[in-house]
Amino acid sequence: ATQLVWLRNDLRLADHPAIYEAQQQGDIALVVCLTPGQWQEHNESEAKFALREQLIDTLFLQAKSLNISLHVLHLKRFSDCAKAIPALCSEHHYQQVWWQNELPVHEAQRDDKVAQALEEGKIACQRLAPDLIVPTPVLNQQNGPFKVFTPFYKRWLQILIQQLSSPYPEPKAQSESIHSDHQSFRSKDFRDDLWPADYQAIREKLWRFCHNKEAQYDEDRDFPAVPGTSLLSPYLALGAIGPRDCLEAIMYVSQQNNRDWQASVWLKELAWRDFYKQLMGHFPDLSKSLPFKPETQQVRWNDSEQLFQAWCEGKTGFPIVDAAMRQLNQTGWMHNRLRMITASFLTKLLLIDWRKGEAYFMSKLIDGEFAANNGGWQWSASTGCDAAPYFRVFNPTRQSERFDPDGEFIKRFVPELKPLSAKEIHDPAPSVRSKIGYQAPIIDYKAARKKAISAFEDLK
Ligand code: FAD
Repeated sequence: ATQLVWLRNDLRLADHPAIYEAQQQGDIALVVCLTPGQWQEHNESEAKFALREQLIDTLFLQAKSLNISLHVLHLKRFSDCAKAIPALCSEHHYQQVWWQNELPVHEAQRDDKVAQALEEGKIACQRLAPDLIVPTPVLNQQNGPFKVFTPFYKRWLQILIQQLSSPYPEPKAQSESIHSDHQSFRSKDFRDDLWPADYQAIREKLWRFCHNKEAQYDEDRDFPAVPGTSLLSPYLALGAIGPRDCLEAIMYVSQQNNRDWQASVWLKELAWRDFYKQLMGHFPDLSKSLPFKPETQQVRWNDSEQLFQAWCEGKTGFPIVDAAMRQLNQTGWMHNRLRMITASFLTKLLLIDWRKGEAYFMSKLIDGEFAANNGGWQWSASTGCDAAPYFRVFNPTRQSERFDPDGEFIKRFVPELKPLSAKEIHDPAPSVRSKIGYQAPIIDYKAARKKAISAFEDLK
């Protein structure tokens, strides 16, 4: 009997445990459910929508060349899946459905409802562990979740070593010819010069990064003008590349260079992805717009729409913040150091609710991923688990001098500052600002910092 594999944020054929396991049992077919209404409620960006559609188009052709059907169901919300998937199974006589679980609350509820509907329809279902490097829960000695990253990471690495496995191979070509029913999307391209939906190119990006940059990652990763990070996040968010693929590349280049793969700083960064995703499973409140630290619910946020808009548009008068926000708006991506600077600026210096920043990022990011985004925002706002202490307020000018010393990155996105020297670009003098037509700072750093710290101190 043909097995049905439901693809969600794991849009790939290779290194896919459910596809691999299902094909051990017989022929397979694939399904994706489009739920744009739900994704809009989750503030997902048009950029991510477009990339998803383009990946599905590519996958459809790849699957077709292997005689594997890919059904694309056009639904609205997650709740529609509980009807649509059993109906598809009945229509095509699929007897078993496979997927990899997802951990945020809405996704988990959706999966439970689909599983229940399948059971009622006497269709079997195989729910595999989430799409992580270490898919099993990483627990402490009391069998509880870790709330701090470093001990999580130590345990994570131990489990990883015990469970090491190579990437799952691509599915084999099937003999039956199939009926294919997908009209390719006419999505608005979003900077596909930067983010092609080409699986071969994605793999090459991974391997090129590992060969050329992974060893220097620790030194380069904080400098936004240097292409020192992998730029794989849009593909990891939609699952266009598998976690074991990343691991294999790290292990291979480490061996080539006589380095210990377990010491890879890039691997440690990938562990953050697992950490935040696993937290979603342990703490359902995180999926409900609640802070990890309940006392921070009492922070009295500033609801100035004007300050918020200035931040969104990259018109704060702080060059590094403005360059970062314009990078986000123009490319759908922002460098990690800048995500930390801009999030600290919004939540501490403007004292604006982190949830507004979280939603704005999600609405623009091509790599918008709920767990990582929520984790990053709660870390920056000091409301999260293992977060920055509340008195840690980034000084945007010092950050800029340190991580973009020549102003090279700033000049790329704030062209009006191009004529300025490395010395003056981080905080131009008022006379220079008015001469070149650049915004005056919307806040006074020292006063704003003091206010932010006392807003958190009041909670004690
Ligand atoms: P690399 O440095 O090459 O890292 C490799 C991969 O590891 C990334 O692609 C990502 O999948 C994962 N990763 C790296 N850092 C983190 C982290 N801190 N937390 C979780 N996963 C991580 N990442 C997202 O994927 N989606 C988001 O929506 C997102 N929002 C963020 C919001 C804020 C406020 C902050 C501070 C961070 C956020 N991050 C998010 C984490 C990080 O900034 C990005 O993953 C990274 O910049 C992506 O670039 P890269 O692929 O070149 O990363």
